[in-house]
Amino acid sequence: MGKKEEGGGKEGLVVRGTLYTFRRRCGNKNCRCQRGEPHESPALAYSVGGRMRILTLRSEDVPEVKKALERYKKERDALEARALAGIEALRAMLAERRGGGR
Ligand SMILES: [Zn+2]
Repeated sequence: MGKKEEGGGKEGLVVRGTLYTFRRRCGNKNCRCQRGEPHESPALAYSVGGRMRILTLRSEDVPEVKKALERYKKERDALEARALAGIEALRAMLAERRGGGR
């Protein structure tokens, strides 16, 4: 297999959403899922434009998705902190302008 750059590159994968266990019944009447043992697979639930979406995953994808979620959280927190610092800077700027008085 060739090593090609995929969108977002695996190293920096960032995803938003919640990991959970997706349960479903396959519709086969003789399957155990009809007797209360649904098929389970890991999935990522996320919302786009107010609508929930689900992306089912393979178990081997879960560690990578967890890391990608962590990256999202880190960057989101960093941006949040930066935005709050920005508000403080703006506040100081406005106060200085008022204090400069005309
Ligand atoms: Zn089944």
